[in-house]
Amino acid sequence: SEEALNHAQRLESVGQLTGGIAHDFNNLLTVIQGNLQVLEELPALAGDEFGQQLVGAATRAAKRGAELTSKLLAFSRRQVLQPSSVDVGAMLESLADMLRRTLDQRIEISVELAPECPPVLADPGQLESALLNIAINARDAMPEGGSLRFKAELAGALPADVRREIDDPSAMDERFVRIAISDTGSGMPEEVKERAFEPFFTTKQAGRGTGLGLSTVYGFVKQSRGAVAIDSAPGAGTTIALYLPRPWAEEAAVDESLHDGDAVRP
Ligand code: ADP
Repeated sequence: SEEALNHAQRLESVGQLTGGIAHDFNNLLTVIQGNLQVLEELPALAGDEFGQQLVGAATRAAKRGAELTSKLLAFSRRQVLQPSSVDVGAMLESLADMLRRTLDQRIEISVELAPECPPVLADPGQLESALLNIAINARDAMPEGGSLRFKAELAGALPADVRREIDDPSAMDERFVRIAISDTGSGMPEEVKERAFEPFFTTKQAGRGTGLGLSTVYGFVKQSRGAVAIDSAPGAGTTIALYLPRPWAEEAAVDESLHDGDAVRP
């Protein structure tokens, strides 16, 4: 559909922008690192004119790097979150349809929804890009095909690491929905799993990965007052679980008992 196409184009431009910035940033780091290395190996140079040129070039590169990061930050802040009540089931079904049409046919895609899975409170556009980012990583981890499964359910007891991630200490388990994306791909070794959310961390070859996918997902769940957890091991595939809050769960419960339809925002 046209909507899916626009969405794909928008994501592609985001990918190009961040990819371009990561590339420029790397070039600047190369200048800084190279010049410092020369000065380290030949400390006598520091005093003379050539040494000063090396220092000057490194300083300019560092300033330019700082400008680039502030641009990147401005870009990410520009995407103001507009949380609303999102029907997770409908979103997963339409995403799965789009992926079935675009991904390698050897990747089998399924959606499993718990009966009466409640909606979540999140920015729908950002949630969709987060899911797409995760799905694209899953695809990359399954070059020979495999299965990609989306599952949504009311979160039971929150795992301890997830509970720690969620800012609100009074957060009750039933107030979160768990959306899990599982693949049967290569899985992550411990050292990759530990760093997977770091901006610019990637194990993909240059031009294929920016290392911004999962850090963007992390930023999104944090801003949505939720959490994200990775379950992965080499050869055992990967599950990324998003925990997102339900819209005003308490108010909705009170309203229901009063037979009054509209939840009131605090
Ligand atoms: P990118 O995809 O651009 O590399 P991400 O931040 O999305 O950046 O991911 C960081 C790294 O985490 C990837 O390079 C990869 O090593 C690992 N990773 C992410 N998702 C998966 C997955 N589903 N299976 C295996 N490894 C993954």
